[in-house]
Amino acid sequence: MTTGGQTLTSILDARSMPSDRLLFGLSNEQLRQALQGFGLLGYRIRQLETALYRQKLADIREVTTWPKELRERVLAAGFALGLPEIVEIFRSVDGTERYLIAGRDGQTVETVWMPEGDGVDEGNSELDNSTAQAPESKAWSRATICVSSQIGCAVNCQFCLTAKLGIIRNLTAGEIAGQVAAVLKRHGAEPGRDRINLVFMGMGEPFLNYEAFMDAVRLLAGPMEIPESRMTVSTSGIVPGILRFAQEKVRPRLAISLNAPYDAIREGIMPITRKWSIAEVIEAVRQVPLRQKERVTFEYVLLGGLNDQPEHADEVVKLVRRAQFPAKVNLIAWNPGPDVPFTMPQADDVARFQERLREQGVPAFVRRPRGRDIYAACGQLKRTAGAQ
Ligand code: SF4
Repeated sequence: MTTGGQTLTSILDARSMPSDRLLFGLSNEQLRQALQGFGLLGYRIRQLETALYRQKLADIREVTTWPKELRERVLAAGFALGLPEIVEIFRSVDGTERYLIAGRDGQTVETVWMPEGDGVDEGNSELDNSTAQAPESKAWSRATICVSSQIGCAVNCQFCLTAKLGIIRNLTAGEIAGQVAAVLKRHGAEPGRDRINLVFMGMGEPFLNYEAFMDAVRLLAGPMEIPESRMTVSTSGIVPGILRFAQEKVRPRLAISLNAPYDAIREGIMPITRKWSIAEVIEAVRQVPLRQKERVTFEYVLLGGLNDQPEHADEVVKLVRRAQFPAKVNLIAWNPGPDVPFTMPQADDVARFQERLREQGVPAFVRRPRGRDIYAACGQLKRTAGAQ
C-alpha cells in the first residue's frame, strides 16, 4: 500500500526512528559521519545523496544502486531515509495547493504549490484528504513553492494569521528542504528540466532559524540542483540575520517585508520595528553584495485605509531612493483572515498605489493572490486543518 508515493512500511519505519537515524537533510559530510561504521567509499555516499535528493526515495530498500546486503545492514542499524510526508492536501480553484507536511515529531508544517502558466485546472475548490493520488497530468509550465522555516512565528505581524500561533518550534534543515522534496515528488517536477522557484515566505521568520535555513539552502542549491537565483527569502527585518546573510557564498535573493514607509505605522503592524528601525534594516541590506541585475524586493502588504494612500506611496518612493540599491516593490492586497482587525484595500487604491510608484521610477508589481479560498495566500498560513 502506498500513501502519497511512500510505502506505508517506510512511513511507519521513519516515524518510529530516533531523529539521528533519519538521513534526509544531512549533507555529504554528515552522511559520511552518520554511516562511518559501514566503511562506505565516497561513491556510495554520492549514490545515497542521489537517492535522497534527486530520486527522493522514501525507503532504503529502494536504493538499488546499493547492494542488497548493504541496504539490509543500514536498515538493521535503525536508519531510514526520512523523506517528509504530505498528510493533507487542500486544492484551490486557481490550481494552488496547500499541504500539511508531517514533521519529525508529528507536528505539521504548511507548504504551498503555485502552478502558473497555461492549462491549470480551474475546477471547483476541493478538500482532498486522500494523499494517495498524485495530480493526473502535468498542467503547468513553471511553478513556485512557498516554504516554511518554523512552526508558528514569534514576529507577531498584526496582519498575519501565522502570528496567532506564536512560535512552536524551529524546523530542521531536513524539514525545510524536505517540504520542497515532498512537493516536487508529488508533481513529478525536476529542477533543471522544470522551472521551479522557491520563496521562503511560508510560516516563520527564516532569519530567526538561521543555521537550519541556510543548511537547507545549501542542500537545495547543491544536491537538489535548484539555482540560488530561483530562491527568494523574505525577512521582517532581522538585522543580525541580514548581516550574516551578506557574508554567504550561496544565498537566495533577498526580500524585505516592509509594509509601511515609516516606523510609526510599521511599529503598529510589525512590532519587530521597535527593535530595528527601517533605517537600520536598509543599512544592513546595503551590506549584501548584489549579483548582476539583482534587485532587493520590498514586500508591501496593503491594508485598507492604513498604508495604501498616495502619500504612503510617495514615502515609499523616497525610501527606495534613499536606499541607493536596486530595488523593486511587490504589492500584496491584504488577504483577510478571522480575528484580524484590518480591511482589504479597494482595488482602485491598489492600482493607484502601483501607478504612483511606477510614475516616479520605482518598479512595482501587484502580486496575484493565490489560493485565498484554501487559506494558502500570503499571511494566511496557520496550520489549519480547514478554513477556520
Ligand atoms: S508575516 Fe511572516 S514574519 Fe510576520 S508573523 Fe507572519 S510569518 Fe511571522
